Amino acid sequence: MEKEWRCKECDTLLGVERGARLYLRYKQAQYIVDGDYAVLAVCRNCTTVNERSKTERAQERAATRA
Ligand SMILES: [Zn+2]
Repeated sequence: MEKEWRCKECDTLLGVERGARLYLRYKQAQYIVDGDYAVLAVCRNCTTVNERSKTERAQERAATRA
């Protein structure tokens, strides 16, 4: 399952979640984040700090199920 991670302010695409991994790409550089992560991304468009963590996702899933 693929899920886009977008800036909360301007909707710029920051990365993509695929399964348990988070894929980040900018120009020539590509990052794949795995394991128990907490990532901060500064939006390249509006400089808003966006946060993403696996713990947060687990909580979201639990909330959806309840
Ligand atoms: Zn932004």
